Amino acid sequence: MEYLQGLNSSQRAAVLQINGPVMIVAGAGSGKTRVITYRVAHLIKSDVDPFNILVLTFTNKAAKEMRERITKVVGPEAKNIWMGTFHSVFAKILRVEAEKIGYPNNFTIYDTDDSKSLLRAILKEQQLDDKLYNANFVYNRISSAKNNLISAAEYQKNEHIQAEDFSSGRGRLGEIYQLYTQRCFKAGAMDFDDLLFKTNVLLKEHPDVLYKYQNKFKYLMVDEYQDTNFSQYLIVKKLAAINENICVVGDDAQSIYAFRGANIQNILNFEKDYPDLKVFKLEQNYRSTQNIVNVANSIIANNKNQLKKNVFSENETGDKIRVSRAFSDNEEGKMIAESIAQERAVGGLRYHDFAILYRTNAQSRAMEEALRKLNVPYKIYGGLSFYQRKEIKDLIAYFRLTFNPNDEEALKRVINYPRRGIGDTTVERVIIAADQNNITLWEVVTDAGKYLDSRSATAVSNFATLIQSFQVIAKNQGAYDAALHISQHSGLLKDLYEDKSVEGLSRYENIQELLNGIKEFAEREDIAEKGLDVFMQDVALLTNDDNDKNPDADTVSLMTIHSAKGLEFPNVYVVGLEENLFPSQMSLNSRSDLEEERRLFYVAITRAEKKLTLSYATSRYRWGTLTSCEPSRFLDEIDAKYLELEFRPRQKSVDKNPFFDNERSAWGQKQNDTFSKPKPPAAQKTTSILPKAHVPSPGFAPSDTSGLQVGMEVEHERFGFGKVINIEGSKPDLKATIFFKELGQKQLLLKFAKLRIV
Ligand code: ATP
Ligand code: MG
Repeated sequence: MEYLQGLNSSQRAAVLQINGPVMIVAGAGSGKTRVITYRVAHLIKSDVDPFNILVLTFTNKAAKEMRERITKVVGPEAKNIWMGTFHSVFAKILRVEAEKIGYPNNFTIYDTDDSKSLLRAILKEQQLDDKLYNANFVYNRISSAKNNLISAAEYQKNEHIQAEDFSSGRGRLGEIYQLYTQRCFKAGAMDFDDLLFKTNVLLKEHPDVLYKYQNKFKYLMVDEYQDTNFSQYLIVKKLAAINENICVVGDDAQSIYAFRGANIQNILNFEKDYPDLKVFKLEQNYRSTQNIVNVANSIIANNKNQLKKNVFSENETGDKIRVSRAFSDNEEGKMIAESIAQERAVGGLRYHDFAILYRTNAQSRAMEEALRKLNVPYKIYGGLSFYQRKEIKDLIAYFRLTFNPNDEEALKRVINYPRRGIGDTTVERVIIAADQNNITLWEVVTDAGKYLDSRSATAVSNFATLIQSFQVIAKNQGAYDAALHISQHSGLLKDLYEDKSVEGLSRYENIQELLNGIKEFAEREDIAEKGLDVFMQDVALLTNDDNDKNPDADTVSLMTIHSAKGLEFPNVYVVGLEENLFPSQMSLNSRSDLEEERRLFYVAITRAEKKLTLSYATSRYRWGTLTSCEPSRFLDEIDAKYLELEFRPRQKSVDKNPFFDNERSAWGQKQNDTFSKPKPPAAQKTTSILPKAHVPSPGFAPSDTSGLQVGMEVEHERFGFGKVINIEGSKPDLKATIFFKELGQKQLLLKFAKLRIV
């Protein structure tokens, strides 16, 4: 069995243990995903029918990669394995079984935008304060209820939940949840959480269906098990109940989705659920250098709630971890872009070998700008998905409506786009009429004469006739022809074509791109059913990565740390290591939140194979204002012996500045108490390698700056010490250009500057 050669003895043992419950909890890079991949290959080689294997992964990308690897071992049979994310796999099952729980099989999947838009409509109808009942908040609350399998009725009966809602002044949340559920049902729509929630309902209320899938999925495997929520946990548990051939792998140190309801207890309790459990330990990290593994271990040791694990690497010691400081977010981008260009040239690497990871999507802007300036090709993963773009959603709304005319959100989206003389008032009337008569919007639209004045009724009826004509076309034509017809006859293509702006052109091209995608789909040989309805089924679940036009392109990868889970790159940059950004401000209130943030840092570090750079900026534009930033506490938690500090001068002209002569020894002090706010300098005891944010000198008071001259040294309340390098303008609007030691050059209007001559 040649294919088992690439495994160490514990990995091989886990692969060969195909019967009964198996769990692997092991550190990053130890081959957990590799074990699952080989295990599936081994099952098929041992004559298990691929149709009987279910593998649940965390991203579609991971599933795709796994399938490719398995195909190499077992051949084309691999395409019959059930493999994908929880959402995509159970959406597929619900497509077959939905009628059993009262939904049409062609149900629509509402994405987050649809859900929030529906919630906003309901909140408005109920005349609730949209600050108190903020749609995002309500959405999250409902989502978390669903992920804990609490239905709207149970929500309203649960005393604990009710007490909590009432005390926050949101006593009507349960009612909103109920209304939202009813409206989704009426529209034949499920939201993302419903895909799991309704699967649970289906398996609970229909023992025959449960039995069918228990027998179908004789072998189950779950990657990244630490990030499953209760709803997912229960589905897996039920499906595995007869055969108990279940293998889960995960790492408690990488649990980073608690904020979305993931429950680390699912790992910790696995042993209780399966007393016959076989546990395998993997301790060798094959991914990273020893330095990287050591740093990761030392970071995670700061978390109290952690299973003890011994992770080591026998790879080379490797370079030290580089810490780079920049003066601003733009400077940080520039530094990293330059570093990538240089490392690539010197190390003979490809762009493909580099990744930039950040805490929040907004940080990509500065990186992108800098990369573009240096002509470094890059690709953003997990950003706004192709399918989330407005024009794509518009066209897809027409498709949705064609197949499910009850889809309320789709109807509201396109009833007057492109404009066809149906004003907001008319739409309001349609909504009210539907509500009063307890019918769907579509039922009002198709009988407009009965509910609306004659002028509005004509426009609305024409719209209904248009959609009905699409239904006929969709029934009788192939996916591509139907899609082309709808994009033309809805007026959408023409509307975009007439917009000659750059954005307009790009929107038009995106529609073309979607049509190309549909054409490709229609020409595929491996699927039998190729109607537009089949294409449409899981569009809401597609992400940016699924529309990768050129997956082999040589580009630098940019993504949030959350979307980097499970991936690896030779050269990784983790950027924005600043207090309030990483760890994020929201995480500073509780130990558990902070520990989750630290696990996220652990995930980031362990993506690197050879070289790791951590960077931070001392100032950054946040919410429109320049804010000075302190280096992240996480940097302080790393033993200095693993680090190499690189604080490069800001600009060439600045090289001459006296402040930079001793730049490399410019470490200040930083408080090291993880849970308290920064303390004044006197209270700081631990010596750190990192410079601190400016704390004004004792008794700091702005002084008279009328005698200010070039060359003078000054102290600014926030920016710290600096030297005046230019003064211009005339009183009272004198402007001084000051070179600050920490922040670099700034121009200040003297009459406002909180400045002291030193
Ligand atoms: P993560 O926790 O980040 O998801 P993981 O435990 O799933 O990591 P893998 O991605 O499976 O780890 O493996 C990490 C890297 O080490 C991969 O490149 C994999 O191919 C390699 N690897 C794992 N085991 C071995 C082995 N026995 N021999 C050679 N390479 C291995
Ligand atoms: Mg993995």
